[in-house]
Amino acid sequence: MPKGVDVTEYSTVTDRVFGGEEIVLSAPFDIGENGDFKDGIFLLSRSAMCVIENGNVVRVEKLSAVLKAVCAEYVGGGMIELFTKTGRYLLLRFSMKYIEAFTKAADIINDLIEGSEVNNIYEDEEDTTLCPKCNAPYIPGTHVCAHCADKKGIAKKLWTLSKPCRGLYALLLLFFWITAIGAVVTPMLSRWLINDVLSAKDASFETLYIIVGLMLLFSVITAIVSAMRDIVSSRASNLLVMDLRNHIYEKLQKMPLSYIEKKKTGDLMQRINNDTQRIQTFIQDIAIMAVNEVFLFIAIGIVTFYLDVRMALLIFVPMPPALWMIGKIRRSIQRRYRKQWGKLDNLTSRLTEVINAIKVVKVFGREDDEIERFSESAASVRDLTCKNEKFVYTIFPIIKFVMSFGAYFVLLYGGSLVLGGKMSVGELVQFSSYGSYLYSKLEWFSMLPRHFTMAIVSSQRVFEVLDETEEETSDEKINADISGDFDFQNVSFGYKSYRKVLKNIKEAVNAGEMIGLVGHSGAGKSTMINLIMRLYTPDDGKIMLDGKELNKYDERNYKDILGVVLQENYLFGGSILDNIRYAKPQATMEECILAAKAANAHDFIMNLPDGYNTFVGEKGHKLSGGEKQRIAIARAVITNPAILILDEATASVDTQTEAKIQEALSRATEGKTIFAIAHRLSTLKNADRLFVLEEGRIAESGSHEELLKKNGIYAALFKAQQEMSAMNVTIDNSNLKEESIQVVDNGEEFDDE
Ligand code: ATP
Repeated sequence: MPKGVDVTEYSTVTDRVFGGEEIVLSAPFDIGENGDFKDGIFLLSRSAMCVIENGNVVRVEKLSAVLKAVCAEYVGGGMIELFTKTGRYLLLRFSMKYIEAFTKAADIINDLIEGSEVNNIYEDEEDTTLCPKCNAPYIPGTHVCAHCADKKGIAKKLWTLSKPCRGLYALLLLFFWITAIGAVVTPMLSRWLINDVLSAKDASFETLYIIVGLMLLFSVITAIVSAMRDIVSSRASNLLVMDLRNHIYEKLQKMPLSYIEKKKTGDLMQRINNDTQRIQTFIQDIAIMAVNEVFLFIAIGIVTFYLDVRMALLIFVPMPPALWMIGKIRRSIQRRYRKQWGKLDNLTSRLTEVINAIKVVKVFGREDDEIERFSESAASVRDLTCKNEKFVYTIFPIIKFVMSFGAYFVLLYGGSLVLGGKMSVGELVQFSSYGSYLYSKLEWFSMLPRHFTMAIVSSQRVFEVLDETEEETSDEKINADISGDFDFQNVSFGYKSYRKVLKNIKEAVNAGEMIGLVGHSGAGKSTMINLIMRLYTPDDGKIMLDGKELNKYDERNYKDILGVVLQENYLFGGSILDNIRYAKPQATMEECILAAKAANAHDFIMNLPDGYNTFVGEKGHKLSGGEKQRIAIARAVITNPAILILDEATASVDTQTEAKIQEALSRATEGKTIFAIAHRLSTLKNADRLFVLEEGRIAESGSHEELLKKNGIYAALFKAQQEMSAMNVTIDNSNLKEESIQVVDNGEEFDDE
């Protein structure tokens, strides 16, 4: 049964409608034919489908009668329409939250109609927040259920990752044995001291010195070995966590952009920093210690049974009820801490978000609201933490108390043996020491579920990223010289499967052509560029480059000949030189200067305090938008790219500088294929051809003059812009006049002008 809704309560319906055939898809929906609210279920088998509204079957359709299913979106919702030989009709309606599920459902129906195999129906189901197995909420921001988590699988993965630390683990094992011997021997020495020295009539000073000397020796050895054990365990866990961090970082770099875009920055940072840190703490302070404690427990347990079975049994009597209690509260503890960490993660994510957008917060004067929101979240974390701690600190002393009963049994029974002359005082002291030791270990073990849950949650969050499928790359990796001939063959693409942004793009671009992409906001210009940059892959159709499919080129081969200047140009923390060299790390100083000159950036760079060595980026010298853009242009042209992408590359510079950059660029990019987007249409006048995008389609194409003559969308856009700039000039002039009038009013001196 695929994931979806539980259909067991509809078993009579499914038996009747599908005759016992397997249901391949079950999905809820919420709107009826007339737009009213309905509690609906859609069921699909390999030969039929059925719509149930408020528990009643309202429609059944055989797949053999259907030609095609279409999922259509309308304002606030969507519907599935079926095309049959007799016409088309509505199957069901749903609100927006089900659009993704029903887009997939329509695809599956069509696949079944065509006879294709349907697998992994809910492969990338994003909206689910409940675990389908146990119905418990997933760990926030993940599709991971802490309860159903494959603990063995996690341990196996951590073990595989710990390969480089195995030598250190072996060393740790040796240290554990030594500390275990110390723990067993010390109470033996105490017994010896009491029986043969303190209570003996003929005790010699020599025996006293030997025993105390041995005690000292063992405590020194235990102290040294414990210190060495902690150093080695810290080294081993740090090594593992460093590897883990590197793996996640590497994975994130290789993930498709769409995956990163879906995640919150704060959440990803948490996984790389906090979750790996929690794993480290668990391994270092808990898991490794647990092995140590198990060693000690077994060693001391064996010794107590060896010395006196009855006394040993007395020590162990309270353990079963204590363990039973621990088992009982384990799930409750897990649930409590899962909630607590979820809240804490949300708080950290929000903090990251607000710090990133602090300028917006300040501009809109929302500091107080943000403070209030943060303190509310912080208070809810505090309340939950206090509640959980209260629970833990109440329940564990009770468990401890139950366990301590054994110590009283030992004293009672052992004391009577001593009084009866059947046991020496030294033996009783030795047993009491072993008993206290074992109880302290048990107490420590009883805290394990809490740490274990924390580690499971963090490991799951980390492995969820590591287990993601990386960007699909073609097996074929073409390495060839690229001249820049593009052919868009019926290219369609949508960021969401149900909303196409580009539709059937069919255009050829010759190497060396400059193509201007124009159109209304949201028409799909940047999206087209995203596909050319290979940030996304077309859903349908192909982009051919020099006669070969674009995605089949080796990534490095392609990116080496691609120069890109985007609307938002990020400069990394480092010198201007480092930033220009980012595209070509081996570039010489001369090459960097030439690139900066081509971008009309050289002069302003030379005027900066440290010239090309001026530190820029988040903590560095603040550059204006236009200056940043010019550095980005230098970074793009330094590789002498065969293909250049300019997405509003000169939007932040004044018209004079723009003209200079255009002129420099046209020299630097001669013979290159250029795709340029600019809202200031005059910028693209010189383009060989303009593609006018309208609702994801290329509605017009041609040179500036041709399109003006055509008097279509482009001509209208161009005219509107011209009128706008004429209006701006008039407004500027009238502002000037108003300013002059104000000057007169203030009684200040006249400006000659
Ligand atoms: P503009 O001129 O305003 O920059 P554009 O023509 O470049 O617009 P695109 O940025 O390509 O338009 O956007 C086309 C559509 O795709 C828009 O409806 C936008 O909301 C959507 N879109 C763009 N980027 C994403 C994304 N990363 N995820 C989801 N939808 C997106």
